[in-house]
Amino acid sequence: MDIVIVGGGIIGTAIAARLGGTDHDVTLVERSRIGEETTAASAGILMETAVDPTPFDLRFRERARESYAELFDRSSIETTRVGTLYVAETPAFADRLEDSTEPLRANGVEASFLPAAEFERFGVDPEGFVGGLYTPGDELCEPTAVAQWFAECARANGATVRTGVTVTDIRTDGRDGIAVSGVETDAGRLEADCVINAAGPWATELNEMVGVSLPLCHTLGPMAALEADDPIEGPVTILESHRYVRPTDGPGVWVGEYLTEYVDGQRYDPSAETVSDEFLETASDVAEIVPALEGATVEDDWLGLRTVTPDGRPLVGETTVDGFVVACGLTGRGITLAPAVADAVAETLAGTVDDETRSRLSPERF
Ligand SMILES: Cc1cc2nc3c(=O)[nH]c(=O)nc-3n(C[C@H](O)[C@H](O)[C@H](O)COP(=O)(O)OP(=O)(O)OC[C@H]3O[C@@H](n4cnc5c(N)ncnc54)[C@H](O)[C@@H]3O)c2cc1C
Repeated sequence: MDIVIVGGGIIGTAIAARLGGTDHDVTLVERSRIGEETTAASAGILMETAVDPTPFDLRFRERARESYAELFDRSSIETTRVGTLYVAETPAFADRLEDSTEPLRANGVEASFLPAAEFERFGVDPEGFVGGLYTPGDELCEPTAVAQWFAECARANGATVRTGVTVTDIRTDGRDGIAVSGVETDAGRLEADCVINAAGPWATELNEMVGVSLPLCHTLGPMAALEADDPIEGPVTILESHRYVRPTDGPGVWVGEYLTEYVDGQRYDPSAETVSDEFLETASDVAEIVPALEGATVEDDWLGLRTVTPDGRPLVGETTVDGFVVACGLTGRGITLAPAVADAVAETLAGTVDDETRSRLSPERF
């Protein structure tokens, strides 16, 4: 089968690496450069933490974790284990975090619920907090390097990776006049029996090219890099109120906002949005939570868009248009889940995907 993957972020490249080793003829088309859009904007946390996790979500994540462990063994990519402290500001959320520990542990994730008094050992002021879910196994990676490495694996496995090429249309005049037959690009036409939409926040634009309507919205992901006097040692700290603090290699942290709530019809222009003044003016307020950040200043900022689905699970699988497959809507976990998404796509094409994965991730499930 001739397959065109649209998008060279972590999802498209993971799929290309996975499909490169099959009998398919695979071409990945990326408009700019590999891993330089949402993937580069992300915090790079390989997440073990989860609130109200279902057994399926934990199994899917475990699959990604196992693949990463095997893949990283074969590469020079390094990760840093920092852990995550997910902090409750209300008793109700504390109950949800506490209830999440057991399912996490049952799936092999090291997890414990800590009273706020214990936060001080992580450099977090307990004032105003009820308690928190601590998962020491969360790791940090450099997501663009991971995507570039996936692209290298794809090439080594026989796939073609084209950058600086934009898909401008998807043709659906194939089998019976309704199946995918190829893509138009600004560098000419590519024939394809299958087109995979891995276009991240641009996924809806691709869907519209073939008349597929799927529930995807955007949320803003502002980030600010704060410089402090000394390195900040401690876990990623995520507040119930969505702000989070992520340690870096140097003397400082990144501050971000973790917004994953689906808002019907909420769409932003991924190329036009910038970080709001309000976010920048309040970013250094995290010093009230992490006192070692007292006096830290904003040195850089950037923004990415999360592509969010109503149930927080990605859309992976076939659509109503024959040959048009989607791998989008990663809802803030694309770095964590990329290899598992790639497996699900490969198994969908091979007809071997299990019923639960198909139905849980089906683009048609809503
Ligand atoms: C601020 C922020 C922090 C995050 N932190 C984390 C985290 O810590 N851990 C985690 O697991 N997840 C995190 N995420 C989520 C994660 O970054 C995304 O889920 C993931 O990067 C999505 O990857 P992608 O390949 O789908 O999208 P992208 O990386 O955006 O790739 C899509 C690619 O498609 C290309 N493209 C689009 N249209 C076309 C076209 N017509 N022709 C050719 N190419 C096209 C684009 O140029 C782009 O490179 C975060 C997200 C944000 C916004």
